[in-house]
Order: sequence, then C-alpha cells, then structure tokens
Amino acid sequence: MRILLTNDDGIYAPGLKVLEEIARQFSDDIWVCAPSEEQSGAGHALSLHRPVRLHRHGDRRFAVSGTPTDSVNLGLREVLDIAPDVILSGVNRGANLGDDVTYSGTVSAAMEGTLAGIRSIALSQVYSRATLASDDLFAAARGWGARVLEPIIAAEFAPRTLVNINFPARTPEAIKGSRVVRQGFHDYSRSTVVKGTDPRGQDYYWFGLDVIEHTPGHMTDLEAIKDGYISITPLKLDFTDHASLASLADQYQKTRG
Ligand code: MN
Repeated sequence: MRILLTNDDGIYAPGLKVLEEIARQFSDDIWVCAPSEEQSGAGHALSLHRPVRLHRHGDRRFAVSGTPTDSVNLGLREVLDIAPDVILSGVNRGANLGDDVTYSGTVSAAMEGTLAGIRSIALSQVYSRATLASDDLFAAARGWGARVLEPIIAAEFAPRTLVNINFPARTPEAIKGSRVVRQGFHDYSRSTVVKGTDPRGQDYYWFGLDVIEHTPGHMTDLEAIKDGYISITPLKLDFTDHASLASLADQYQKTRG
C-alpha cells in the first residue's frame, strides 16, 4: 500500500514525524510531500499568483514552497509516478473540529486528495494547557493513531468524502475510545483580533484562535472530544444544502413571475 503524507504545519513539524510513525505500521511505501513552512489557516488555497518550488529533502521526501493544497497537487502530479492508495494529512498541532475545518490546511489537503479520487484522511491532535506543558503533546495520536486508522483505511469511502479525525488532549490511557460523529459548529464569537502598532507606526491586526467558544451538540465531534473520545467524522465536498433546493427554487419562481 502506497501512502502519501502531508500536513499544514510544515515539513519539519513534530506532528508529521508522528504521522510517519503511524503510517509505517501499515506500509513501507511512504512518501512525504509537505509545505516547506507553516501553513495553518491556509484553508484550501491554491497558489495562483506566484510560482512554487519543489525541494527534494531525501528519498521519498519533498517540500513545497506553497500551501497544503499545492503540496498534494504536486505530490500527485509531479512526485509520484503511481498514485497513492491513501493520503494522510497531519498530525495537526491543534484541533480541527466543527466548522473550523473550513479554515484548516490539514483538512483541505485531504479535500484535495479526495477531489483527485484518493481516499484521504485528516488527523489532528487537540491540545490543552496540561498537554502543552507535558513532554509529548502528540501522545494521544501516537498511542491511538494506527488503531483508529486501521478500519478507516480498510473502509469504502463514498465519492467526494474524506474522514476527519481528532484526538483529545489526554494521555492515551485516559482516552475512552473513539466515536463516529457528525460535524459540530461553534459560536461565531472568535473576535480575538489583537490590534497593535508596528515599529514604523502603522497599525496591524493579528487574528488569534485561542478563545473559541464551541457549542457542543448531540453526537458531534466537539462533544466527543469534550467527553474524552477520539472523533471520527466523514465530511462531504458537496456543500449543497439539499433541503434548501426546493424552497430556494420556489422563491425564484415567484419573484420571476
Ligand atoms: Mn496546522
């Protein structure tokens, strides 16, 4: 089985090492094609206005001077002669839960793989003050990664669907298990924008992600993580709200007469 690894924290990120450890439990045919620098929050951006470079870092190991989406794209088009069976993205340093996935470079790399018709899985490690202070922020992903991935890698994926996995901020022993749950949502109160003045007297604004009030709902990824479970959520690239199709069409029919 050929596995392509990527992430949005960059090719030197500790979480990518953890992902390699996990992937090696499934195969020796592991390839890495990841951004050369941190790209968290890049979403599904594709570099259109500047060229990107592909740097060889070793055998089956490449860095791309662009976004996670660029990395998967080049991994599939330029690096690999034969397509991978699976794309794994992560392990992200931090949660990708609820509708935050739309900002996520980690999840977007998996989206890109999904668009290319390859089963793709995003993995993220939630952290807390306690796990930040511990010596291994990724202990949960390290301890549970292969176990959680095994049935997912073997599963049939619906077309244009990826799987989003989050590991709670707990020691492996304190994790209660895993739950397949739906995507939650958060209150849009993330206005943690810090305004400052730069050394040349110009104002700047800096977005922060540290204080996000999530609203756990029933059987959502947010709730699973809060309760100490690993969350597993299938995500669809078809954003269409089928429930609104008829009502919106009706509305248009009326206004057009
Ligand atoms: Mn990241």
